[in-house]
Amino acid sequence: MAKLLEGKIIASKIKEELKQEIASLKQKTASLPVLASVLVGDNQGAQIYANSQKKVAEELGIEYRLEKLSDSVTQNELIDFIKQLNKDSSVNGIIVQMPLPKQIDYKLISSFIAPEKDAEGMHPQNLGKVLLGKAKISPCTAKSAFELVKSTGVKLYGKEVVIVGHSEIVGKPLSLLFLEEFATTTVCHIGTSEAGKLIEHVGRAEILCVAVGKAGLIKGQWIKQSAIVIDIGINRVEGKVVGDVEFEEASKRASYITPVPGGVGPLTTTMLMKNTIEVFKLQKL
Ligand code: NDP
Repeated sequence: MAKLLEGKIIASKIKEELKQEIASLKQKTASLPVLASVLVGDNQGAQIYANSQKKVAEELGIEYRLEKLSDSVTQNELIDFIKQLNKDSSVNGIIVQMPLPKQIDYKLISSFIAPEKDAEGMHPQNLGKVLLGKAKISPCTAKSAFELVKSTGVKLYGKEVVIVGHSEIVGKPLSLLFLEEFATTTVCHIGTSEAGKLIEHVGRAEILCVAVGKAGLIKGQWIKQSAIVIDIGINRVEGKVVGDVEFEEASKRASYITPVPGGVGPLTTTMLMKNTIEVFKLQKL
């Protein structure tokens, strides 16, 4: 039976390190990081994320400034608001909560956040640095999935890593983090599925990361014996939250597996705080 990779447990270790780092930064700079969180409208999911981010930020000594904007805000108004935050020297990090109302293009908005204040790691310049390697700031969910794999102690050099999903926010940056460690990295997507080749790629994955958003897409029986399985997907099925991988069957074959909920999600917030500390350092040191 697979061991569970619980985000909360790994997050609590990383949070201890971050607390120490913040204490030493406070001594050096006589200030503490401030994260501005822009919440547009009243989407319940976005509010839940913001509340849990506030809790973690405050636990670490980061000031969490919630900035609420109306559902009807236009794209230009939101851009102007971001520009103000960019100029505000009391703000170190900026995050725009998802999901956003239909009239707002998230990619465009991300590009207006000053790269040195980009706590989500989604500004094109920061994504470019992930491509170049050794990036300090990278997209939080990809970072979280990567930390979970590393927490197993596995050596990544030469390992067969398969990522399912190639979004800018998860799959693509995650593939670059693995490449940097010399893992042999395959990225699958809808084309792979439609060509009927997903089973073949998944079947040879020593490390499998899935970020699609389709419950049960990855059958438990496809999983290679002793694989590490990171399920990033979040799906609501009959009132329950489940991932993209058939958990029960996969657990019988994998060596490690993330539960959903409780795997990648709880660590993602801690990775946001890690990025916030990095942007604070960029500005203050
Ligand atoms: P996107 O919808 O942006 O990306 C989904 C990806 O899956 C795309 O690359 C898509 O390919 C691919 N895909 C779709 N159908 C298939 C298929 N049948 N076979 C193989 N690949 C397929 O989603 P995100 O990356 O933003 O999120 C993915 C999941 O992760 C979601 O469930 C989301 O809720 C969750 N998530 C979890 C987070 C956490 O902290 N735990 C944070 C962020 C996301 P194509 O574009 O070519 O169709």
